[in-house]
This record gives sequence, C-alpha cells and structure tokens, in this order.
Amino acid sequence: MNVHETEKLYALFEFSGISQADGAEDADIIIFNTCCVREGAETRVIGNLGIIKKLKEKKPSLIVAVCGCMTQQQAVAEKLHKRCPFINIITGTYKLSRLPEMVKRIESGEKYIFDLELDLTVPCGINVAKRSDNVNNFVNIMYGCNNFCTYCIVPYVKGRERSRRKGDIIEEVRQLINGGCKEITLLGQNVNSYNDGDNDFYTLLNEISDIEGDFWIKFMTSHPKDLSDKVIDLIAEKDRLAHYIHLPLQSGSDRILALMNRKYDIAAYMKKIDRIKKKMPDAGLTSDIIVGFPTETEEDYLLTEKAVRQVQYNNLFTFIYSKRSGTPAAIMEGQVPEETKKERIARLISVQAEIANKKAAECIGKTYKVLCDSRDGKTLTGKTSDDRVIVFESEDKDLYNKFVNVKVTNVKNSKLYGKAVK
Ligand code: SF4
Repeated sequence: MNVHETEKLYALFEFSGISQADGAEDADIIIFNTCCVREGAETRVIGNLGIIKKLKEKKPSLIVAVCGCMTQQQAVAEKLHKRCPFINIITGTYKLSRLPEMVKRIESGEKYIFDLELDLTVPCGINVAKRSDNVNNFVNIMYGCNNFCTYCIVPYVKGRERSRRKGDIIEEVRQLINGGCKEITLLGQNVNSYNDGDNDFYTLLNEISDIEGDFWIKFMTSHPKDLSDKVIDLIAEKDRLAHYIHLPLQSGSDRILALMNRKYDIAAYMKKIDRIKKKMPDAGLTSDIIVGFPTETEEDYLLTEKAVRQVQYNNLFTFIYSKRSGTPAAIMEGQVPEETKKERIARLISVQAEIANKKAAECIGKTYKVLCDSRDGKTLTGKTSDDRVIVFESEDKDLYNKFVNVKVTNVKNSKLYGKAVK
C-alpha cells in the first residue's frame, strides 16, 4: 500500500515540475512516507531522520516532510515536531495529494506546516502514479477499514472504508493493460468488502477478468469473514484471476481470535480453506500470523501451529505482537514476555520452513506459467500464478514482462529452480 502511495506522490510531484533525485545527497526535498502498522517501521523513520538532520545542517534550504500513517497520529506528530524541529512539513494520510502544494508554500517562505485534517472523500477518476515497472502494478480499489481488530492501528489512521467507483477502477486497469502491464494487484485493507454503492467485489472482479488481454489479477488483503464462496468460485472459473489467495489467519485459537475481534473462528476459516482447495487444488495460500498476543498461552500457540500444519501454506508472514498505542490490545492484561514471543515465533518459522520445503519439492517435474520479472537477462526470475518465486534458465534472455512456461527441475530451501520449455 505504501509503495503505491509513494508511486502516486512521484507522479504528483512530476506534474508540479519536480523530478526524482538520485539520492538523499542530491535532493532539495526529502519526504518520508511512513507506516505505523509495525513498531520497526516507526523506529527506522526516527533513525533516518537523524541522518537527514546532518544533511539539513549542511544545506539549510533542504525541505523535509514526514507524512503517512505514523504522523496521522496527533500525539506522535506533535512529539516528532518537538524532537525534530528541522522538519518543515508534518502531515498524515489524508493530505498526501496536497504535498506538492505544501512544498511550494515552504519554498515561498512559510517556515512550518502541520496539517492532520481528515479528508474522507474518495478520489474520483484514474489514479496517476509513476509505477516502477510494468510487471506488477498496484491499483487501489478502496481505502480504510471498518474492522477494528484490537491490535491494529489502521482504522484510526486511515479512516473508515471508502471504495473507488467501479468504472474508474476498470478504466485504470484497462489503461495499464493497454500499456503492457501483465500483472495487477488490487489493493485495499479488506478488498472483499469493496462496495461502491452499486457494485460489490464479486462484480468488480468479474468485470475486470473480462477485459481483453494477456494478464492476471491478484489482490490483497482478504478478510476471512468477508471472502465469499461466490468470489472463490469466480477465481476458480476465470483464467485471468491468479490462483493465489492471501488469507490472514492471525491465530489458531478461537479464544485469541475473539480477543483480537477478528469475527471468525477457526472452523469458519477452515471451511473457506476447504472450499478454496476443492475448487482450486493448485491454489497458493499464504497468511499472516501474530505470535504472542496478550494472554496467549502455550496451548493457544499450539493451536496456531496445528492450523498452520492443517492448511499447508506456501508461505507465512509471521509477526511478534507489538503494542500499538491507542489500540485496545495495547492496554490488555496479560502481555506475553518478549522471550516467550521470540521462542514461539522461532518454532513457528521452523514449522513453516518444513512445510514450505515439502510443498516446493512436490513442484519438481511440474510445468508452470511464469511471468518473468528480471530485466538484466542474466538470472531469470519470475512468479507463478500461485505467487511462488522461480529462478529459471532459458536460451531466450529477452523475457522481461513476458509469460513463459517453466518446468521445475530443482528446489533449494523452498525456492524453485527450473528451465523454460515450449
Ligand atoms: S482487517 Fe486488517 S486493516 Fe482492518 S483492522 Fe483488522 S488487521 Fe487492521
């Protein structure tokens, strides 16, 4: 999401006649588009601002802006201003499109802008973005989230769900495909609850999959409570919808899921997984898991391990629970000690590594349609419809942004290796 927001910022600045610098040393304007979903991202911003302070001392005309969801939090933004008074612009997630205008105001002599005002209008028309490559392009279909999972800061910093109009999204996708794009990832905090007032996610996906061209569509993120059977069946049916579903589980314990306010239990989650596997035996499944949520016991953790073994994901994104201030979980009793969290996550990673290796070995001898994403033509890499990375050999090196059939010949640490075949 943040990568794509930054692509849109690049395009907006280019419209204002401001181009991308080669690096921080050459820049006249430095912008941090921050994320606060994980504590680590916030810490990195603070660390990087220390380096920028030195640059600003050497070049006082340097304009420094911090925007995004970290600074959408009033208290964090105020603290940052006190700690780093050299920052010229502090704004949040709602005013990103106004940044070029704010920069002009600073250039005209204004010393400091602090603007966290909410703007809940849904942008109309096509999103302009300076996309970094043609292979995988992002298209926002909605913004915000209504779910209020108790560990998550997103609804507080990105607001309630707002969906873009279906017609705008279809036109943006069509333009990208006409421009040569082969893979589009539809983005939203909870894409399954897309609704522009007249159309739901099923209708949107169905119409996109009928656009002429050689491409495939992926999307993220799905919420298990909202992923409908209709959507699963559509993915199975339509060639242009990639057989890849990222379905965050977060925990295998019903007690923890309830405390997280996830609004599904393990039985409902497994029902969705069973339907996906039945309709698409070749589907690639991945998930997010949080380890060490407040009050998580060894038994709760073991239920997560059990669920992971049952689903057999291709890949897992595992996180140690970290407190996000302002969320209900941050003040829950029974915070789990750091050593316990670290020990559990290490175990989970090793369980998943074993599963991923086994699943990768099952690919040997099979042929996959792969979208090549390497430009240099030396080491050819690409991704399959089920979102696996594959390294392959081919006599034809000019394969960037082309679909190619690749037979898997070898596997190393769950990574696939193969050869292009006719
Ligand atoms: S659905 Fe996702 S974005 Fe929304 S509150 Fe839950 S974790 Fe956060």
